[in-house]
Amino acid sequence: MDAPAHSGLGAALDYLSERGCAPGTLLRAPLGKRELLGIVWHVAAAELPEMAVPDGQPDYALRTVGEIFDALPPMTSAWLALVDFAARYYQRGIGELALSVLPPALRKLDAAGLNKRLARLAKKFASGTVAQSIAAPRRPDLAPEQLAALAAFEAARGQSAPKPMLLHGVTGSGKTEVYLHATEQVLAAGRQALILVPEINLTPQLEARFADRFPGYRMVAMHSGLTPVQRLQHWLLAHLGQADIVLGTRLSVFAPLPRLGLIVVDEEHDPSYKQQEGARYSARDLAVYRAHLERVPVILGSATPSLETWQRATPGPHQRYQRLTLAERVGGGALPKVRLFDMGVLPRVNGQSPVLAPMVVDSLRERLARGEQSLVFLNRRGYAPVLHCADCGWKSGCPHCSAWRVFHKGERTLRCHHCGLTERVPRACPDCGNLDIAPMGRGTEKLEEMLAGWLPSARIARLDADTARGQGQLESRLAAVHAGDVDVLVGTQMVTKGHDFRRVTLVVAVNPDTALFASDFRAPERLFALLMQAGGRAGRDAEAAARSEMWVQTWHPRHALYAALKRHDFADFAQSQLAERCAAGLPPYSHLALLRAESRDPAVALAWLREAAELAAAMPGAVGVTVYPPVPPAVSKVAGMERLQMLLESTSRLQLQRLLTDWTPVLHGLRQRHKGLARWAIDVDPLAI
Ligand code: ADP
Ligand code: ZN
Ligand code: ZN
Repeated sequence: MDAPAHSGLGAALDYLSERGCAPGTLLRAPLGKRELLGIVWHVAAAELPEMAVPDGQPDYALRTVGEIFDALPPMTSAWLALVDFAARYYQRGIGELALSVLPPALRKLDAAGLNKRLARLAKKFASGTVAQSIAAPRRPDLAPEQLAALAAFEAARGQSAPKPMLLHGVTGSGKTEVYLHATEQVLAAGRQALILVPEINLTPQLEARFADRFPGYRMVAMHSGLTPVQRLQHWLLAHLGQADIVLGTRLSVFAPLPRLGLIVVDEEHDPSYKQQEGARYSARDLAVYRAHLERVPVILGSATPSLETWQRATPGPHQRYQRLTLAERVGGGALPKVRLFDMGVLPRVNGQSPVLAPMVVDSLRERLARGEQSLVFLNRRGYAPVLHCADCGWKSGCPHCSAWRVFHKGERTLRCHHCGLTERVPRACPDCGNLDIAPMGRGTEKLEEMLAGWLPSARIARLDADTARGQGQLESRLAAVHAGDVDVLVGTQMVTKGHDFRRVTLVVAVNPDTALFASDFRAPERLFALLMQAGGRAGRDAEAAARSEMWVQTWHPRHALYAALKRHDFADFAQSQLAERCAAGLPPYSHLALLRAESRDPAVALAWLREAAELAAAMPGAVGVTVYPPVPPAVSKVAGMERLQMLLESTSRLQLQRLLTDWTPVLHGLRQRHKGLARWAIDVDPLAI
């Protein structure tokens, strides 16, 4: 939660300008003693531009704008409308949101500095640097289902208000090939394509495929890994219409694209499309809105669509999207056989059940003997989640969080994964001096160690947030797997994302059960997606497909979720989940918002939320919106701050929006009377509650 409690002035500020300037014009504007980047939002009849500037104190005497950035075309009206909608919908100030989605380096420039940048850019990207006449890249002939999807896309492109499209197909069914063909059409028509991906460094192959396919066009990347100068350059190329393809993470949904012709949201179900701080927008949802505004087709692609998207793409009263299905894997690859191992049958040793079932270890050995690769994942990094003293019961808690500190054996540390507090492992129990303190439970680091013991000749690599931290480490590990230099890749769910590994014939889910009983209502949806995606890593090679397997180690082998997984039946799973959601009145059958608050003293956050709830109840818009009592989230204390959250729910998105719109300004005011309140934030359509 990074939003300072005062953030989010709603309205734009008024300025005078001697010259007329169009809405969307970028310029410098005085605010208090500073001069900031601003965007002309409306222009009053008397040529009074009303401007969006970052939050600050309203200034009552009208001031004159500073330098106007004449070298840049104004932001398009569609872009302004997108930002305006996002600010209203997610309850943020327009100026704050608008400025936060512009490249930070732009904020530091004056007109002269900008002109210098543009000159340098023109030199660097002088026409001719993009290869113009290269041998036509190889492009496969589309399979019948791909052709049908493309035909639907072509039809949509000709419509004045095309319906969003869901492209549903398992990993390896040829979705990316459809994106490439759709992009080709759009580029040929002189338009720009926006391709959204969840995490760019996990899918370097997608970027490479676009680059290889369109050598005559310019593609730019947009993600948080760019330097400020790169980010500015890429943004300028997009805005000036000189980049034809923008490929980026959630942030790029705000890329300025004057010739936009297509938006693709790959892996549309991925939680990383939701921003978790500041303006908590969903880039997937904004992509759909933007496509509607700009009247262009949007393709949402996934093997395991979000239930929100699935509902809208299913025939019935909620249908608003067109569903396109790719049912088969390209080239005869099959989905792996899913096998459930009942962990309940294994005897415990020293009170702990074995990490891997003997049959699973045998399966790993078989792959090793055949020179095939295996993926093993466990959703917990570190060596052990907690250290424990058997004599006095001490456990390695974090003094600042309601969480354990995790034992990292390699670095001999205890580390809190919430606040980052790191200390060397104590030699003896800090409470009683007992020398025999032991790790309890296991994480990926321990799993790697145990695998090395079972498979002494195997080349094992680990992939998790710890090993992927350094520059280029993630990329080099993935490259090693691709090159065949790794036999077993072990890690967190990071190993299950987007990679196209040819030689994987075995995937092992070590302990996925915890998600079955998590309090969050989306946990089963997430688990199903994770396992289905993980399984999608195996069997991509037709020859190896027949012997590809996914082992799921579980204490609940008869759970309905696993039964659907065994049949690779997303539609069945989704239908049963939607029925449950409908019965329980949960999204997508209702709409949620969370009001979160943090303070050192939990009583302060509680009092604030209670008063906020009373104010909500008294508002005219309160009809049809249920406000639940404040509760602590799963981890209630982080870095010394106590967290509380309050859920608002309505079957009508409009009613919920009305209430939030009236309520937010009141909350900004209410803050003044609760001095110990550190932060608060509204999260519209929260992913986790
Ligand atoms: P997805 O995006 O659904 O995982 P891809 O588009 O990456 O699927 O396709 C999987 C593999 O099959 C890729 O190597 C791709 O180049 C290839 N492929 C896709 N469509 C065809 C086709 N029609 N003919 C031949 N190969 C194809
Ligand atoms: Zn002790
Ligand atoms: Zn901590």
